[in-house]
Amino acid sequence: MMTAYRHVGKVSMLAAVATALLVCTGAVGAAGQAAVGDKVLALWLWGSTVRSQGADKVAQDLAKHGVTDVFLLVRGTAGKADYQSSLAPPAEEGKEALGDLLKACRPLGIKVHAWFVFNQDKAYTDEHPEDRLWHHGNASTEFKPYEITDGRVCPASEAHLEYTKAMIKEVLEGYDVDGIHLDYIRYGHMVYCFCERHMKKAAELGIDVDRVRQVLFDTNYASPAQPDLYFEKFIEGDPDVAAWVNMRREEVQTAAAAFREAAESVKPGVAFSAALMPEGALEETYAFAMCHYSQSYEDAGKLYDFVCPMAYHLDYDKAPDWVGQVTAGTIEAVGSGVPVYAGIQAYGDKADYDQVKQAVEAALEGGAKGIALFRYGTMTEEFWSAVEAAMK
Ligand SMILES: [Zn+2]
Repeated sequence: MMTAYRHVGKVSMLAAVATALLVCTGAVGAAGQAAVGDKVLALWLWGSTVRSQGADKVAQDLAKHGVTDVFLLVRGTAGKADYQSSLAPPAEEGKEALGDLLKACRPLGIKVHAWFVFNQDKAYTDEHPEDRLWHHGNASTEFKPYEITDGRVCPASEAHLEYTKAMIKEVLEGYDVDGIHLDYIRYGHMVYCFCERHMKKAAELGIDVDRVRQVLFDTNYASPAQPDLYFEKFIEGDPDVAAWVNMRREEVQTAAAAFREAAESVKPGVAFSAALMPEGALEETYAFAMCHYSQSYEDAGKLYDFVCPMAYHLDYDKAPDWVGQVTAGTIEAVGSGVPVYAGIQAYGDKADYDQVKQAVEAALEGGAKGIALFRYGTMTEEFWSAVEAAMK
């Protein structure tokens, strides 16, 4: 994403000094975050990038640009492990990104967080089709529910929750990582999940699932459709729709809390964080976020040591100041005790120097304690220089 820093040496030196000081005085916060000056510069990094470019090269580049924290993908949507795992198949036979990157980042003072995708895990669902996510159903299935076979997992699956807990523990037992970072810790859309497990569970909770399905149908598929109906029913507190949405919210909250507990059981104080969909941070899109994702910022404020709202403004066709609004909304929702590192879009055709710089500036003006760039593999020297200019 970017160009060279003009004060590269100074920035990385400061980062190293700041980190050393924090470590020496034991002043690392609960989140364990390091800082450039007083701001975190984090970024998401795919394991495949580490494996293809080499960990040393990547780590030196991160240090050169003043990166303090890196989220390394150790289990993505394919469900393959980018560390030595006895539970999941390897991302690449005979290789692993996590051990290599940790070794390369330690001497440079860069913190490494193991990044886990939650709601999609192809390797797992291929072995356990009973835990697949089920769609509401569309015209091609005469609106009957059908299973999704691309790896998406039912968030109510106890077995997948246990499996993910075991992987988190496995990482913490085998590697001295600084944090666990959750992604896709949510539902993907309001049309999920209508598996048998969910039908039964909802019925036990006194939810009329047929009514929920009818409102969904009227919202998405009827002719003419009523595109706002589901959200209106949620806002009104409709007994079935609101209870269904709340059931999903509780599943997401329960899963995150279980992962936190698993992490704490192995490494107390390990930083625990998540990437969040941005809509939930803003009042005008709150109902949309709850109905589709069931990912609550209020819950997030109690679950995580820091959060990264993915304020990818270009994908949302927004101006950079929207990043500041999402940041401010996040701070309000999660509370001031939870640092916000705003997710910045540094990818795609529309991203350029000005867009990246203004997005970072808006995040910091909105109160962010740092930023998280998506992602390392798309960074250019132009983007790096925009980040530097905005953060100095
Ligand atoms: Zn389900």
